[in-house]
Amino acid sequence: MAKHNLIIGGGPAATNALETIREFDADAAITLICDEPTHSRMALPYWLAGKIPEKHTHTGDDAYFQKLNVTVRIGERVDRVDPVKNSVMLSGGDTLNFDNLLIATGSSPVSPPIPGKDLSGVQPMWSLAHTQSVLDATAGMEKPRVVLVGAGFIGFIVLNAMFKRQWELSVVERESQVLPRMLDADAAAGVADYLTSQGVGIHTGTSVTEIKDDGGAKLVQLENGTSLPADIVILATGIKTNLELIDGSGITTDQGILVNDRMQSNFENIYAAGDIAQGPDLYGDQNAIHAIQTTAVDHGRVAGANMAGQDVRYPGSLLMNIADVCGLQCASFGNWNDPQAEVMTVNNTRQHIYRKFLWTEDQLTGAIFTGDAKDVGMLTDIGMIKGILQTQTSLGNWKEYLRDNPFDVRRAYIGAGVAQKLVGTTLTGRPARPRQFHFGGNKPAASVGPAHTAFVSTKAD
Ligand SMILES: Cc1cc2nc3c(=O)[nH]c(=O)nc-3n(C[C@H](O)[C@H](O)[C@H](O)COP(=O)(O)OP(=O)(O)OC[C@H]3O[C@@H](n4cnc5c(N)ncnc54)[C@H](O)[C@@H]3O)c2cc1C
Repeated sequence: MAKHNLIIGGGPAATNALETIREFDADAAITLICDEPTHSRMALPYWLAGKIPEKHTHTGDDAYFQKLNVTVRIGERVDRVDPVKNSVMLSGGDTLNFDNLLIATGSSPVSPPIPGKDLSGVQPMWSLAHTQSVLDATAGMEKPRVVLVGAGFIGFIVLNAMFKRQWELSVVERESQVLPRMLDADAAAGVADYLTSQGVGIHTGTSVTEIKDDGGAKLVQLENGTSLPADIVILATGIKTNLELIDGSGITTDQGILVNDRMQSNFENIYAAGDIAQGPDLYGDQNAIHAIQTTAVDHGRVAGANMAGQDVRYPGSLLMNIADVCGLQCASFGNWNDPQAEVMTVNNTRQHIYRKFLWTEDQLTGAIFTGDAKDVGMLTDIGMIKGILQTQTSLGNWKEYLRDNPFDVRRAYIGAGVAQKLVGTTLTGRPARPRQFHFGGNKPAASVGPAHTAFVSTKAD
């Protein structure tokens, strides 16, 4: 009899899992339950910046789910998981049974204990509803004043969207530098200097003590005595995994659900993927949460293949943050903060160009890059650094070459055989297929052809 695969969530982990299950098993029953429409959070800043309409953030529609023969329950929540009875309870009271369960419920912003955090116009920027509410709150304003509380990766992606709208921006960060979990102090100093030159107010090493209502507008009071007027305040002070539904279930957790290299929890038919999953880390001994889209996609595909009866092992996710910060591209990878590593650094403070390579013997184990977001050479270098780290290639003599030529990653990448290695690498043991969802049923203008066979399946649907 066909197995019933139940998926909770509708982000990239969930949609990639369901497509992968279907790829391997035409008959499996699949049900997806999500309290929001299936969509990509990563696309929200493009909507916020006015570059795309809201519907372009969606990653599935009725036709897509019908084609893949998936039963969907959008707008519903799972309140409880029972791993003994193999069932989930929905907030509406229904109980559903499963053979395999995937928990892909992601994470949510934490609410900092700041007086005034519940005032209208003070909010996180994480979901479809949050994006709509920022757009509503700023509608008709020529140059809304925004205070961003928290200078982390997601906060800065949101900042970038608002910068494109030419809003008046200030950032408050409790730690002594911006992007504290992404860049070292020198790179961060360059980013802060760049942002200041672009008219963004930077307030590091100080916290928000209170947000006051000031006749509809807000006044953000800082510990150092400064007060910043704002039309909206975005709280970006961190995220936490959405674990409530498994409270008391016996599923083992740490900061997220602990999973093995098949994305299985301590119950072999219960899988976790994406932001919620604390899984293998390519450059660490301990399981880690890497709350980024690429990890969610990989997790979803590995979990989906295994739910469909394959035996796919995940080598681990690469910690990787890449963001366009108002025209300055910033990226860090792997063990970028490793005090044991041998380090090579280039720092051009005038042009805000920073490159740091971190080595363990002749293997690159971490990197930090900043530079002009329009510099195509730098962008391709970032892509190649990702490939070098992902394949864990020993660079041999190319290490010394990079010491002398830190702006010529390409030769090391090709010379050490990284491109060749990547061509032969697949996550699930077969080439990936193009995504099954095309917005409004539109086919992409360019299609996959024979030249792509090594990377993606060219078989027609
Ligand atoms: C504004 C923004 C920009 C970002 N930009 C980038 C970027 O540029 N690059 C990058 O790599 N990453 C980016 N990210 C992070 C990336 O979006 C996440 O890592 C990714 O969405 C995680 O995918 P997921 O499938 O695990 O969870 P999610 O995408 O969070 O999806 C989980 C879904 O499950 C639903 N859910 C939760 N609990 C329940 C329940 N009990 N019952 C039913 N449904 C439930 C949630 O509401 C949500 O819809 C960004 C995130 C945000 C918010």
